[in-house]
Order: sequence, then C-alpha cells, then structure tokens
Amino acid sequence: MSIPVPTYDDVVQAAARISAAAHRTPVLVSRTLNARLGAQVFFKCENLQRIGAFKFRGGYNAVSRLSAQQRKAGVVAFSSGNHAQAVALAASMLGTSATIVMPTDAPQAKKAATVGYGARLISYDRLTQDREQIARDLVEREGKTLIPPFDYPDVIAGQGTAVKELLEDIGGLDALFVPLGGGGLLAGSLLAAHAIAPDCEVYGVEPTAGNDGQQSLRKGSIVRIDQPQSIADGALTQALGQITFPIIRQHVRDILAVSDAQLIDALRFFAERMKIVVEPTGCLGAAAVLNELVPVKGRRIGVVLSGGNVDLAGYAGFLQSA
Ligand SMILES: *Cc1c(COP(=O)(O)O)cnc(C)c1O
Repeated sequence: MSIPVPTYDDVVQAAARISAAAHRTPVLVSRTLNARLGAQVFFKCENLQRIGAFKFRGGYNAVSRLSAQQRKAGVVAFSSGNHAQAVALAASMLGTSATIVMPTDAPQAKKAATVGYGARLISYDRLTQDREQIARDLVEREGKTLIPPFDYPDVIAGQGTAVKELLEDIGGLDALFVPLGGGGLLAGSLLAAHAIAPDCEVYGVEPTAGNDGQQSLRKGSIVRIDQPQSIADGALTQALGQITFPIIRQHVRDILAVSDAQLIDALRFFAERMKIVVEPTGCLGAAAVLNELVPVKGRRIGVVLSGGNVDLAGYAGFLQSA
C-alpha cells in the first residue's frame, strides 16, 4: 500500500481553503532580543490563532474536505489537547459533530474548551490505555471519520500554511525553528520553506525528555520511545509518523532538544518582554534560539510560536519559579 504524500501544492490549496476561517496571525519582533543576539528574530504568533494554536489550520483543512455523507456521521480525534479543540471548532463551523478522545490528565483548560466547542469528550488513561484503539472502535461502530493529529496529508498541508504566511509576510530567512511533536507542523513547514525559501535551514525542536525525533534522524528510521515526561504537553508523542518522518528526513537541517528549564525561561521572556502568553510546547523553537543552540548572530531567524493554551494556575507557577 502506498502512503499519500502531501506536497507544497497541497499547502497552497489548504491556504485557500482556510483563509476565510483562520486568522493570518501577526509576526512579532523584540528589539531587546535582537540586540542581545545580534540577530533579527521573527516570531510567528500561532498562540494568537483560533483555538490558541496552529492546529486549527490542519483540523479545519481536513474537516472541510469530507463528503456530505462523512460529515453526517461525524468526526473523531484523539489528542492531548490542541488538536482536539481544532477538530471540535472546525466540526461545529462546518456543520458536523466531533467526538474527542483525550487523556484524563490533559490540562483542564483544554478539556473545557473542547467541550465548549460542542464536542463529546471520552477520557482515557495515558499510561494504560491505547487512544488509537479507542478512536478506531468509534470509527468502526459509528462510521465516523478519524482525523489524526499529525500523520495525515490534509493535516500536514494545513499546518504548512503558517510558515507559508510567515515567509510571504517577512521575506527570506536564514533559519527557521519549529516545535516538534509528531511532526505535522514541521513537515508542513518544511514543504512551505523548501518551496518558497529553499536556502532556509529548518530545525525541529523537541523536549530533551522526548527526543525521539532526534534519535530517529540519527538512526535513519523511526525510533519509538517510552511516554515522555515534560511540561511540553503538546509534544509528548512517542514516535514520528509514517508520512511526517520521510518529509522531515529529506528536508530538515537538524533536530534539536531543549530542557523544561529552558522552556520556562522562554515562557517568562514572552510574558515579561513581549506581553504574550505562550504555552511550554509553543516555546520549543524559541528556547533553541534564546539558548543559541545553533549560531544565530547576524542572521534572519524565524520562530514558530505554536500555541498559547495553558491552565492559568500552572502558568502562574511557571512565572514564579525563577
Ligand atoms: C501539537 C502541537 C505541537 C506539535 O505538533 P506536531 O504536528 O505534533 O509536531 C507543537 N506545539 C503545540 C502548541 C501543539 O499543540
């Protein structure tokens, strides 16, 4: 069986499909940071996207492509949070119903938001139950369509629209830093960057405790790891996807890893200096730049701030833990 591979053409079509529904998010800069690093850093603010994360792009693109019959039966998603909200909102906007399979320990804000968008929520235990199996049962019993969080061409193409916008809005970049979980955002970003700015070095950034992507790139095949423990709850995937990995392997410059302490420093920087709320996972790319994991001096740098959904109590704790 051949796996369908998304191309930049699909990103272009996704951009047209989502343009009336998604925000063209702003690109912010910090003079203080630029002076400190001797670089020009451009932050693509997907924390200000609908549902508070880039995942609305892929979710809306995927749901909008379903047939009338599929829409009638509804959609299913399994997700630690932002993909769930994306599918829930897209489903309600496009006149279909969503059932979301979410871990019991997902942030309360994400669960509440998902239910708020009108979705039915099914909880499972991350350590003992297989969410993919639960979702597959719903597909078989109720005829629903599964919208996977990253390993799905329409989702990858939708996620790629953020970097397409970034490059259109600010012109060329020397390097781009993208948070990495299962690789939907990174694969889509690579398709866009490779087509629009082929000389731009693209880096994926994941939590050190969940560096399966880094290990996979070194090994040349997908490495599966145990359930990672990190505050980057949107990047706790155990492995890259069958579709995302080949795209990443072909185009990525490298995959970097940052610690939870570095994520908290970045989160505090955004709150204090830039007045924006960025969730820990959303800080992955930025943490690599702030800590200069690769040289940035004298260069034009793009960073995807992938999301801003946090429990306020947890967020306050991160701000205080100096
Ligand atoms: C899902 C998510 C990621 C990781 O995206 P993948 O496509 O799984 O690599 C990064 N940041 C945020 C905020 C997310 O919600």
